[in-house]
Amino acid sequence: MTIVISALPHYSLFCLNNYLLFTFEFYNMSRKVTILGAGLVGSLLAIILRKRGYQVSIYERRPDMRSAHISAGKSINLAMSTRGWNALELAGLKSEMEALAIPMYGRYLHQPDGQTAFQPYSKNNEAIYSVSRGELNKKLMTLAEKEGVNIHFEHRCNQVHVENNHVHFHHDHKEKIVEADLLFGADGAFSALRESYTHMNRVNCEQMYLEYGYKELCILPGKHGEWLMEKNALHIWPRGKYMMIALPNTDGTFTCTLFMPFEGEVSFEKLKTQDDVTALFDKQFADAKTLMPGLLDDFFTNPTSSLITTHIFPWHYADKSALIGDAAHAIVPFYGQGMNAGFEDVSVLSGLLDKYTLPPSAPSLEKREGVNWDVILKEYERRRKPNGDAVAQLALNNFTEMRDKVADPMFLERKKIEKELGKRYPDQFVSVYEMVSFSHTPYNTAMQCIQAQDKLLQRIMNEGDFFANVEQAAFCDNLGKWVTEYYNAVQKLDFGNEA
Ligand SMILES: Cc1cc2nc3c(=O)[nH]c(=O)nc-3n(C[C@H](O)[C@H](O)[C@H](O)COP(=O)(O)OP(=O)(O)OC[C@H]3O[C@@H](n4cnc5c(N)ncnc54)[C@H](O)[C@@H]3O)c2cc1C
Repeated sequence: MTIVISALPHYSLFCLNNYLLFTFEFYNMSRKVTILGAGLVGSLLAIILRKRGYQVSIYERRPDMRSAHISAGKSINLAMSTRGWNALELAGLKSEMEALAIPMYGRYLHQPDGQTAFQPYSKNNEAIYSVSRGELNKKLMTLAEKEGVNIHFEHRCNQVHVENNHVHFHHDHKEKIVEADLLFGADGAFSALRESYTHMNRVNCEQMYLEYGYKELCILPGKHGEWLMEKNALHIWPRGKYMMIALPNTDGTFTCTLFMPFEGEVSFEKLKTQDDVTALFDKQFADAKTLMPGLLDDFFTNPTSSLITTHIFPWHYADKSALIGDAAHAIVPFYGQGMNAGFEDVSVLSGLLDKYTLPPSAPSLEKREGVNWDVILKEYERRRKPNGDAVAQLALNNFTEMRDKVADPMFLERKKIEKELGKRYPDQFVSVYEMVSFSHTPYNTAMQCIQAQDKLLQRIMNEGDFFANVEQAAFCDNLGKWVTEYYNAVQKLDFGNEA
């Protein structure tokens, strides 16, 4: 049985003497919005649009995670940085989430021989924050409903007929078709809307699995619920071809994620027995292992998940639909930016709504709508697509940095020099990491600065011991010139605030 539901706001069907007539209705001037996915990005987008008066419905594949015993999927906790916080502020959720977030001021490195070192993230003691994915998602859904958003759970979208916006769902053993007016695909890395776009003419789409998988493990708290490692840091065990990281949770636990090739010399494929896992952890992660009494259970119970990067163009269809969040740009998690980038998509859309909301003097149809969605979706895609591609590349690059370079003395020296440059020339030099994590500089601009920063840092390091050299006036003169050259080279880039 198929049920067809219309979500079109300003048309209604009338029958008169057996003639079917379309008529406009003017009771509701703004378009109705249908969102696929009540994940982080879909729920946030719903709040932002609802606050602007749109009627919003979300269709979510899973049961309600607030009542059912299901996990929020993927990682248990996430690193939230500036882009994410600003979007939460738009929704009015920032302070509530801040109270539950744990600041991480830097990386805490664990070497195989047990030595540790702390590397701050920024020159100004800025932090990224560990937040619970489940808590955040639940709060976003609850706020969305409080604002008047309708969330339909257990509705899996199978496909969308993109031209006429007919959305096909599987619900309660039946097929249900919703005729969407304005549709957003916030349905994650394996988006049904993205898949449906690929059947259209001139759509380019690419997906790439990493040859690495990941598995979540857990470090338990002490007897009194205390954290047994430094709480305010992101812990890393870099091991060249693989690594483990750990982020703190508010209950004193740390969620560890082991990233490792699926196949190869040291790989998930080789960890078949309890002895295999014990031997690896004894040798490579001995300090963590003493804090992981449930290691073997976790290892053999928890899934080994894959990591994917996707690219698609276009991101929207006419004024009818668009992709957002992971649906538009699924990326690997090594810069901690997937959610942050998706939240920034929402901030950018919100800014575009401010910009393109038409004045009362606008002509007929547009005036009724108040907003020109054709222009907004085009502009959204123009601004976000290059940044989606850039953050995907930045995330891939950062994998090598985290699993390998962070333990290299030359790399550590470079990081210290970057911080010193930032302090001495705050108007001219900001490291790429700081641009990505602590600003709204477009990801694309941050990526384009890499080469120029490499050149500058190479020049400086070729001169020998930087911290001895900066004691000398002649070196400082040269340094000033080099930094100015760098600054002039990157000035032509777009440093506009993306949100
Ligand atoms: C191991 C790991 C660690 C990560 N760490 C970080 C981090 O530290 N910081 C960070 O910023 N990002 C991180 N990310 C990325 C982050 O998880 C994603 O970018 C973020 O979840 C994207 O949100 P989203 O709402 O677009 O997609 P999702 O969170 O995937 O939500 C999509 C929603 O759509 C629903 N859905 C899916 N298909 C359908 C369908 N066909 N019909 C209806 N509903 C559907 C899903 O059930 C889900 O609720 C990490 C990712 C991984 C895998």
